[in-house]
Amino acid sequence: MQIRRKLPIVFNILICIPLVILALVSYSYSTRNYVTKSRNNIRQLALSEGKALASLIESRTYQVQMLAKDKRIIDYMKNTHDEQKERIVQEYLQDGKSSGGKFEIVLLDEVGNAVLTTMANDHSVRLKNSESFREVLQGKVTFKEMVYTQEDSVNTINITVPIWDDNSHIIGVVCEVMNGNEFSEFGKSIQIDKTGYAFITDERLYTVVHPIQENVGKALGDRELRRVIKNKMARGETVGEGQYVYDHQEKYTSFYIIQDIGWVLCITQNMSEMQRQAFVGSLLIVGTMLVLMCLVNIVSRRLIKGITIPIDALIETMDSASCGEFTNYCTYVGNDEFGELSKNYNKMLVKLGESHENLNSVCRELEETKKELEYNYNELKQSKEALVKSEERYKFALDAIDEVIWEYHVETGDFYTTDNWNKIMGYPLEGKSIKDMIESHLEPQVGEHMVYNIQRCLAGEIRDFTQELWLIKVEKKICLLCKGHAITNENGQVEKMIGILTDITNNKRTEETVCKLTYFDALTGCLNKGTFIESLDAWLGSGNAYKTGALLFVDLDDFKKINDVLSHEIGDKVLNFVGKQLAESIPQDTFIGRFGGDEFVIFKTAVEQMDEVHGMVYEILSLFQNPIIVDQTKVHLTCSIGIAMYPEDGSDSAMLLKNADTAMYKVKENGKNSYSFYTKAMSQTLDRKLLIEGALREAVVKNSFFLQYQPVVELASGLTTGCEALIRLCDSELGFISPGEFIPIAEETDLIIEAGDWVLENAMKALKHLHEQGYTEFTMNINVSSVQIREEIFLDKLKKVIRKVGVLPSSIKLEVTESVLMENIEKSIELFNRVKALGIRIVLDDFGTGYSSLNYLRSIPLDILKIDKSFIDEITTSKVLSEIVDSIINMAHALNILVVAEGVENECQLEVLRNKGCDMIQGYYYSKPLSEEALEERLAEESRLDIKKEFL
Ligand code: C2E
Ligand code: CA
Ligand code: CA
Repeated sequence: MQIRRKLPIVFNILICIPLVILALVSYSYSTRNYVTKSRNNIRQLALSEGKALASLIESRTYQVQMLAKDKRIIDYMKNTHDEQKERIVQEYLQDGKSSGGKFEIVLLDEVGNAVLTTMANDHSVRLKNSESFREVLQGKVTFKEMVYTQEDSVNTINITVPIWDDNSHIIGVVCEVMNGNEFSEFGKSIQIDKTGYAFITDERLYTVVHPIQENVGKALGDRELRRVIKNKMARGETVGEGQYVYDHQEKYTSFYIIQDIGWVLCITQNMSEMQRQAFVGSLLIVGTMLVLMCLVNIVSRRLIKGITIPIDALIETMDSASCGEFTNYCTYVGNDEFGELSKNYNKMLVKLGESHENLNSVCRELEETKKELEYNYNELKQSKEALVKSEERYKFALDAIDEVIWEYHVETGDFYTTDNWNKIMGYPLEGKSIKDMIESHLEPQVGEHMVYNIQRCLAGEIRDFTQELWLIKVEKKICLLCKGHAITNENGQVEKMIGILTDITNNKRTEETVCKLTYFDALTGCLNKGTFIESLDAWLGSGNAYKTGALLFVDLDDFKKINDVLSHEIGDKVLNFVGKQLAESIPQDTFIGRFGGDEFVIFKTAVEQMDEVHGMVYEILSLFQNPIIVDQTKVHLTCSIGIAMYPEDGSDSAMLLKNADTAMYKVKENGKNSYSFYTKAMSQTLDRKLLIEGALREAVVKNSFFLQYQPVVELASGLTTGCEALIRLCDSELGFISPGEFIPIAEETDLIIEAGDWVLENAMKALKHLHEQGYTEFTMNINVSSVQIREEIFLDKLKKVIRKVGVLPSSIKLEVTESVLMENIEKSIELFNRVKALGIRIVLDDFGTGYSSLNYLRSIPLDILKIDKSFIDEITTSKVLSEIVDSIINMAHALNILVVAEGVENECQLEVLRNKGCDMIQGYYYSKPLSEEALEERLAEESRLDIKKEFL
């Protein structure tokens, strides 16, 4: 309940309850008091008025007694017939009457006859017959009322006194007749309120005076009152009172008894009136109380208003504050506590408003943070899901890969590996420590190096190490590539090491083979062409340059016949034998290489005398004096030797080789089985070179090159999926010149740049044409020389021509040779990556003739590897070469590189390559280089066959 309602109620209750109690108490008190007081009044009145009446009666009686004792009266009575006397007495009586009041005097004789009277009418008869007269004659003084006739309607009060003579004889009676109305007046004068009145009874309790005339002369109505009055009279008491019921009213009556005459003055009043008056008094109290209550109410309301107005204002402000409105200030101003409260509350509101604003901004920030967190959470969730998936993939990958992943905990020394350990090592790890493994499986030196590597990692000197480990005491000899990486904790201390173990045995073996292949000729054990030239260049470029040297070009005579007649196998064995013989025959400081086929090249360093060279030459020639026995077959063999001297016949390897070769050809020309020193005269070939150079320049100017396209066939489908563009030059004088002859001259003279640009554009145009013909998947291999690649603007040119022709880069394949790579491997990688970024694929041409290291295959971005024709030539006859091709294909496939075999001329070679998993074939077996039209015809034919096949 609101204070506004509660407080008035409380106030009213608090004030009204005492008031009501007070009213009740005062009511009962005042009622009682009033009634008592009224009674006392009546009692007092009865007493005083009774006494007054008594004294009135007494004085009247005394007067009459005095009259009876008056001498004139006595004398008169004694002699009644004396007229004089009668007159004197008459006057006397008249005087007495006139001075005394409203009464008449009658003198009666002893028999009751009126002797003398002041009254007009004769009253004597009644007197004579009255009881009073009889009592007077007995000597009593009487005081009686006498009721007259109806006609008179006057009551009289008679005082009768005997007249004694000197002899104490009653000689007459004096009667004073008073008008009864005089008493009635007396009675009427006593009036209390409305119902209070007085009445008088005589000694018989007959009413003498009564305000209601009818009651006069009747006996007192209430028996109880009569009984009480009589009792009192009997006991001689004068006053009494009582509460009685008569006239159907409860009345209080007090009375006074006049003893001498037995008259009783009664004063009575209705009790109901007394009580009513008390009630009126109470009503006054109640009224006062109600007024008081109203006042209390008004005052309390005002008081409460004074309290509730500021409270209401505060509540209203608080309400709006609770709804977030902090600018509705409490408007109550006052000097009281509420005013203070309002002021402080407003201050608090200002603070609250500021806090609310702050909170709001914090809230907004929190909201944003929440959103951000939700966003992060979702991202985290997604990342987590992705992580779970990637972990699954990772596990799958771990199971799928051949590598072993290991982990070594530095503190505990625990060593864990993935399950592949078992697969590689052939036994489970079963709690073996890293130390056990090092001690039991590594050569002491290797083990020490491994420990050294780990210790350097732990010491923080290095973070990673890589070491190749040939394991011992395992089922078969295996080589592992161990990579380790140190993981540090937050303090930078190495906590653990993780790493992988890769079984690189096969790679290692292949590498060894390829390494051999890289440096040595597989068939003879001599240096291969590349190594030989490299060694020669190294010698020429070193401090030995001031010395002299001799280069011998040794070519077996008619060796092709041995191959053809006695088989390639015998041919290989012969080459093997010859190679070894030559190697054994040569002196110190001499190195020997095989340049493919039946060509051997020997370089004698530090030639001090020409005899040394001659000696060597004879020694070689003598080797062929006797037939060679191979597989019980006698093989007669001779050789031709061309010699070029350093520095006279050439300052670099190319020139020396060329001149020695020239000299060798001279020997051949001159009948073979001999030797010849190079002479300048032999350099007529140079003329041809110059002629070719001229033809090239002309072709460049006239654009008279033309292209042929050799199909590249997909082995699996047998379909021509692409071709290699091969440049052709037909000079008006020199006729058809082989690219093998003019390309090196073009490279030397840089004419290859223009020729190469021409090839790029025209090969792409041909490709575009083929695409337009519907061979949209067809690809074009374009040879690029190292001279072209060296050009800074090569890439831009490439992009430009692609844009110009509008061909798809993904259908272009650039063929490069290893020599390009070897010039600057890092630059080549960068260039190849940029070329590949265009979508063009890279083909490594003539693989196997140069350095052929599988090492760089790992790091160079290659797509296709083209095995050189020289391998294919002997793939069916040489087991070694066959195995090498095998390794190359496997290795390339492992590196995701496709393999093309070039120079495939027969089905045998094709089958071998098919079995080895070679991807593509290029060679005369399928097709010689074709004109554009012929190529298109071939493609059309193939697609016709293909459609037919589909239908069938
Ligand atoms: P290459 O790039 O190795 O080209 C393959 C050579 O082998 C071609 O000789 C081709 O006709 C020949 N050939 C293909 N299959 C067989 C086969 O089954 N048996 C035999 N005996 N030979 C086969 P070609 O056209 O005389 O080219 C010789 C070399 O000239 C090429 O060797 C390449 O190095 C160079 N060359 C040709 N065209 C271009 C060119 O446009 N630009 C550059 N830079 N060099 C070119
Ligand atoms: Ca090529
Ligand atoms: Ca080639």
